[in-house]
Amino acid sequence: MVKADDKFRGIARELDGLGRLCLPIEARRSLAFNDRQEVDMYIEGEKICIRKEGKVCAVCGRTGELFDLYPVKEVHICKSCALAVTDMVMEKGL
Ligand SMILES: [Zn+2]
Repeated sequence: MVKADDKFRGIARELDGLGRLCLPIEARRSLAFNDRQEVDMYIEGEKICIRKEGKVCAVCGRTGELFDLYPVKEVHICKSCALAVTDMVMEKGL
């Protein structure tokens, strides 16, 4: 079985003079990127990560496409993290 992490390993790409590169079509299709897909980019250790733009849980970092996110002041949190926070608050008492 090919893991997503192994699927596109070994494809060498060269950045152009402005630091741009073309994402492999196989990767874009696999992740259902649209034409002109908006993405978020961030650094994780020594990697530059690219993912579809979307609301992200401020606690665990999961995106909002797979589950509902709840707005909390200026951020969003997922149901799992909301329940964890609720449990902690309830344990301390109101
Ligand atoms: Zn979360």
